[in-house]
Amino acid sequence: MDTITELLRGALEEVRSLGDGATASYIPELAQADPERLALSVVGPRGRVRSVGDEDAEFTIQSMSKPFVLALALVEHGRDAVFAKVGAEPSGEPFNAISLEADTGRPANPLINAGAIATTALIGGDDVDARTARIVELLSAFAGRSLWIDESVYASESSTGDRNRALAHLMRSYGVIDVSVDLAVETYFRQCSALVTVRDLAVMASTLAFGGWNPVTGERVVGESVARDVLSIMASCGMYDYSGQWMLRVGLPAKSGVSGGIIAVAPSQFGVAAFSPRLDEHGNSVRAVAIVEQLSERLGMHLLEPH
Ligand code: GLN
Repeated sequence: MDTITELLRGALEEVRSLGDGATASYIPELAQADPERLALSVVGPRGRVRSVGDEDAEFTIQSMSKPFVLALALVEHGRDAVFAKVGAEPSGEPFNAISLEADTGRPANPLINAGAIATTALIGGDDVDARTARIVELLSAFAGRSLWIDESVYASESSTGDRNRALAHLMRSYGVIDVSVDLAVETYFRQCSALVTVRDLAVMASTLAFGGWNPVTGERVVGESVARDVLSIMASCGMYDYSGQWMLRVGLPAKSGVSGGIIAVAPSQFGVAAFSPRLDEHGNSVRAVAIVEQLSERLGMHLLEPH
């Protein structure tokens, strides 16, 4: 075992005993996840992947899809058009908050549910399938392998997704969304239900770390300015109402999802992903937060530290 893998294994064992938190229950299928699962993966500049723990466990990408769909919207429409529909400010509120700007109905940022639904609504395509295909194709290019949708998680989300539908109705009433509510939210539910492993997520994070170039496949997935825009939003808004604390303690652009994953990006150095299903009160994985926090501290990764 090389020294980095050893370090990762040590980090994993240090957080294993953390038993706090609970699996997400508002999406019934997610409540079934094995709460003990724990995995960590890191991808460096030459595309070397190092993974420890339950590295083959598959889970749905959930909100970690949001930065990548933002990237696709930026590619399709450019920065000004995207940020005319959705803000770039941390909301300081939970991920599913019913909070839209007073006069315009604009959501605070693309990484809370409202903002992500508005961003997804910008992706081109005639119907849910065509739009989903475009999104899955991009997620797959970031991951370096073909991803697909977990139909039972999708069905579970769609049948319990009234809050997201309500947000979409509100945004449509303001003209923030100009496609049908169904088209917007069903595409969003499908994007959230793409299956990934911690390894896939680390490759996706590393593609952002290297300016949109996937270090495993050697493919340019998005341009440098798109990757930079996405990382900027992740740095301020990626961890919901824990984003400020996260920047303080970890200092890396990141994004969490209610399935229990977190991606974090050390620009020009590596992409990281951690997975463990039990969540804290913000909807962030307890053990994944702890492990990335610990890695950043040990490796001196805080972006604002003099290097
Ligand atoms: N699909 C989930 C939802 O819309 C995503 C939320 C999340 O991962 N925080 O509620």
